[in-house]
Amino acid sequence: MSVADLLVIGGGIAGLAIAHDAAKAGLQVTVLEAADRVGGLLQRAELDGVAFDIGAESFATRTSGVAGLIADAGLPLAVVTPAPGGAHLLTTGPGGLLRAALPRRTVLGIPADPFAADVVRILGADGSARLAAERDLPPLSGADEPSLAELVTERCGPLVLERLVEPLCRSVYSQPAQAVRLSRLHPALWRAAVSYGSLLAGADACATDDRAGAAVGGINGGMWRLAAELDRAAQDQGARIRTGVSVLAVAADDGHVAVTTAGAVVRARHVVIATGAAAARALLDPAGAQTADTTPRVRVVAALVDNPAFDPRPVGSGVIVAPGVPSAAKALTHANAKWPWLAETLPVGRHLFRLSARDADAPGLETPADVAREIALLTGTPVDAADVIALTSAEYADAVSRAPVDERRLTELSDAGIHLAGAAVAGTGLASVLPHARDLAASFSSTSSRSTA
Ligand SMILES: Cc1cc2nc3c(=O)[nH]c(=O)nc-3n(C[C@H](O)[C@H](O)[C@H](O)COP(=O)(O)OP(=O)(O)OC[C@H]3O[C@@H](n4cnc5c(N)ncnc54)[C@H](O)[C@@H]3O)c2cc1C
Repeated sequence: MSVADLLVIGGGIAGLAIAHDAAKAGLQVTVLEAADRVGGLLQRAELDGVAFDIGAESFATRTSGVAGLIADAGLPLAVVTPAPGGAHLLTTGPGGLLRAALPRRTVLGIPADPFAADVVRILGADGSARLAAERDLPPLSGADEPSLAELVTERCGPLVLERLVEPLCRSVYSQPAQAVRLSRLHPALWRAAVSYGSLLAGADACATDDRAGAAVGGINGGMWRLAAELDRAAQDQGARIRTGVSVLAVAADDGHVAVTTAGAVVRARHVVIATGAAAARALLDPAGAQTADTTPRVRVVAALVDNPAFDPRPVGSGVIVAPGVPSAAKALTHANAKWPWLAETLPVGRHLFRLSARDADAPGLETPADVAREIALLTGTPVDAADVIALTSAEYADAVSRAPVDERRLTELSDAGIHLAGAAVAGTGLASVLPHARDLAASFSSTSSRSTA
């Protein structure tokens, strides 16, 4: 039986990038994708003839992952920057709901300057003074890292957690701060904080002067186009991309790796598991993962709204919602206020909103009346159900990044030719996923050229 050089399980952005780079380096590569389309969490939707992203819609520019891939693969895509409006925050204050611009210089909600006016507006004078005292605490050590929630509460005070860090963590990473560690979520901030001994000093070192939410880029026409063009480029380089093929098991097998699908067992020298974290766990440990998996689903609802009150873009690019606010959504994106290319496709007075459900299983974002009520609450602008002219939604069952195996097992698997890629191991977001995936692809290319030399 023939043995392939490289088999990639999962045709999300990580799997496609690996397939492209490895095929370009001359390896024989096959991608097996369970869904009937590639792209994974990069997903296109359409409402009333307008195409847009209903999955990832931007990328952090803290790495050159996306721009580098576009250049290296020669993809016909233009990187664009969001409109300068910035994002807002809706939280609860002493006088009820508090709607404010997200502070300009924050990293993961941790402010660089506790006394900046936009920080004091959210924390109040006492909260800012408590935050400023963080620099006088005993230096932060890198040992025994607590959860992000404990770390921020202990060092910066509960208000910073409640009003800034928790809303950002939940809306961007779909996880409560209690469930994550800073070193995994934002390694650069963690390193800076440990080296300066202070979270504030770390945030000061990492923060840009851009408006919050501005250190991101997008793709003209939508991020989904990155996956579509990369799919094409990978095939042009000779990669085989097979959709509608679900992999059931992966196991080391006599010097190779055996991959089982419903129809066959295929063997490869190297296998990359580039699925979501829960699927990776299930592939590596079918019995254990079935019972243990508690990954929360992620749900996004998009609505076209005819209402000229939004023409002045009252909440900039959108709103991040603190957990204490009685809302079914944890974030809202005013998509055409954020992306000029999208604004050009809509007539004046028409707006596209994306709402991320706080709990995909809870009701509250199904009907035009639900969506109108939520948009009104989050933006502070009255909206009628009749203004909502079209609705669509998407759900993601495996979008939360949680390490599927520990470091030791990762090394054992790698020695056996089984590698992990994608958000499950690199962390959430294209800025983390792409450099990791491309480094992995380069490691195959260099071992293959050494073995053929
Ligand atoms: C709603 C939403 C918004 C987001 N917004 C942003 C953003 O704006 N910016 C940003 O940088 N990141 C964003 N992210 C995160 C980002 O999309 C992900 O980190 C990234 O796309 C993950 O890519 P991946 O290739 O690792 O995994 P995925 O995209 O999850 O791809 C995994 C693929 O594996 C396939 N698969 C699973 N199991 C099997 C199997 N057994 N056999 C074969 N195939 C299988 C799946 O069908 C899927 O296509 C967002 C995520 C979501 C859900």
